[in-house]
Amino acid sequence: MPITVHFAPAGLWDAYQPAMVAALQAAGLDAHLTLDAPDPGAVDYIIYAPSATLQDFTPFTRTKAVLSLWAGVERIVGNATLTQPLCRMVDPAMTETMVAWVVGHALRLHLGMDAHINNPGHVWNPVCPPAPRERPVAMLGMGALGTACATALTALGFPVTGWSTGPKVVPGIPCLQGEDGLAQALATAQIVVTLLPRTPGTENLLDARRLAMLPRGAYVLNPGRGPIIDDAALIAALDTGQVGHATLDVFRVEPLPADHPFWAHARVTITPHIAADTRPATACTVIADNIRRSEAGLPLLHLVDRARGY
Ligand code: NDP
Repeated sequence: MPITVHFAPAGLWDAYQPAMVAALQAAGLDAHLTLDAPDPGAVDYIIYAPSATLQDFTPFTRTKAVLSLWAGVERIVGNATLTQPLCRMVDPAMTETMVAWVVGHALRLHLGMDAHINNPGHVWNPVCPPAPRERPVAMLGMGALGTACATALTALGFPVTGWSTGPKVVPGIPCLQGEDGLAQALATAQIVVTLLPRTPGTENLLDARRLAMLPRGAYVLNPGRGPIIDDAALIAALDTGQVGHATLDVFRVEPLPADHPFWAHARVTITPHIAADTRPATACTVIADNIRRSEAGLPLLHLVDRARGY
């Protein structure tokens, strides 16, 4: 009897179906991938993304796991009908992509590239950027993505301090926790990267008080989630020069409304939530492997902790 895998985000079917079928086969699974679920009680696994119309998980009585195509699960984790285990996406290609975004945007600011790219007066101004070792970085969030980005920046010579909920041991990266740890990480950070999930605990984490803890002129990179930063406090800090530049990929409202002051601010760079997308080829392998583990009685990987919200 094949296992039934319901692919809920119908709009992504064409992009994912061939890779998902191939990955299920490669994992040695006798699986039937289905776009429709006329009998929810017969579904063993659900592949989910926020674009899916599926909201009521109650009829899926046999479902052993809901497997998210997204790393961030804030749009499903609070669904009271979802009693099945929920796994988030940890996709090696997405991680690589996030590392490229963070390193690229950090290097742009570190090297002062804009002054050389936009130099209409052809001014010869030989000011060398500091060495990476002179540019401390705070990585807020040391999960799958934060750890990979912190490790890549460390390899380039930047002294990175990590910050997360629980203790972490990452070679070459001191990792701090709690309010004191955050204050310590921010006090020296010339670049702050936020790779935190959106939860009640991270809402407005970078507010006026915490932005004031940064050395003057520090750079903020936010590829995590928009609500982690208090927008008004960030604009005020940019206006005074307390924050030298903010490169933002995520926003409270997306697409970012045309009249939002971020668009017109000279010290803000906006990328349209493209820092790291889930990639079908790798993501399907991750999902198929998790189903294989579950069918073999092994624990699911990347399980979401409902109480913590990520
Ligand atoms: P993980 O769940 O692996 O890591 C989250 C990290 O945040 C963990 O280190 C966790 O600490 C820490 N954390 C959570 N809450 C707090 C808190 N209140 N205080 C301190 N630390 C906290 O997630 P990922 O690394 O995979 O992804 C991070 C986020 O990146 C996603 O939730 C998503 O919002 C965003 N994202 C953005 C994308 C984009 O294109 N812009 C693409 C993909 C993801 P601990 O380790 O102790 O639990």
